Amino acid sequence: MPMMPVADGPVTIASAGSRALGVVFERVEKRYDSGRLALAGIDLCVVPGEFVSLLGPSGCGKSTLLRIAAGLEQASGGRVQSAGSEASAPGDVAFVFQEPALMPWASVFDNVWLPLRLAGLTRSQAREAVMASLASVGLADVAAALPHTLSGGMKMRVSVARALVTRPRLLLMDEPFGALDEITRTRLNADLLSSWAQWGFTVLFVTHSVYEAAYLSQRVVVMGSTPGRILHEERIAQATPREAGFRTSIGYAQTCARLSAALESASGAMP
Ligand code: ADP
Repeated sequence: MPMMPVADGPVTIASAGSRALGVVFERVEKRYDSGRLALAGIDLCVVPGEFVSLLGPSGCGKSTLLRIAAGLEQASGGRVQSAGSEASAPGDVAFVFQEPALMPWASVFDNVWLPLRLAGLTRSQAREAVMASLASVGLADVAAALPHTLSGGMKMRVSVARALVTRPRLLLMDEPFGALDEITRTRLNADLLSSWAQWGFTVLFVTHSVYEAAYLSQRVVVMGSTPGRILHEERIAQATPREAGFRTSIGYAQTCARLSAALESASGAMP
């Protein structure tokens, strides 16, 4: 499929009337100090408010691309325009990792408060935002609990609430639900789509799951390895937010079949 064209001049990564921020990669390359060429020739334009998933075999550079978008890693070639690399306000970009990484000694409330606390807000100044964020993931009633009393799914919900508490304009998610059982994962997928619809941020989402990518995304980018590169893009026309019935529709099954074929071919593709 054709790649989204990259404009010649500067590309606007924030859209008028929306808080969301996009990300633009132009001919991006990443060579680590070890000499490993992790990414080559990455052209990708994620528009403000879009939900894009990165799908590909292990080691194809998905996490590297996400870290570059966050400004946690520098590209060694090409150009990146993202909230993580330009002058954006603290909290504009949020990152969710596969591990919830909660502070075990702190309550659910205090874990979610952390980004606002680091920004200088006291507990009472942050209370409304923390409780709204917890409510959006269905955890308002366990605000006082300690993390060890929660299930794996609930811990991940806390991690998502902590990411959402700053009202990010760009949410970067690195296989956040990969360790969860299928039912929990399905619920968290639905909750993420509701938060996305409610708050209108941009999402760049890394997953190994064809089914998850097809359910969540407006566009799926399939990557191959050695070096990490984009091999295929699939737009998913189904309106968002998606109804639960989308998962049992023929259109969904066909999309999954196409993505599975693309992933299989990407997993076997050599340069
Ligand atoms: P993915 O997320 O698709 O599994 P990664 O982005 O983690 O892939 O890694 C892409 C490639 O870059 C892999 O070959 C990996 O070993 C290598 N890599 C990742 N991080 C580093 C690093 N800090 N130093 C050297 N090589 C790295």
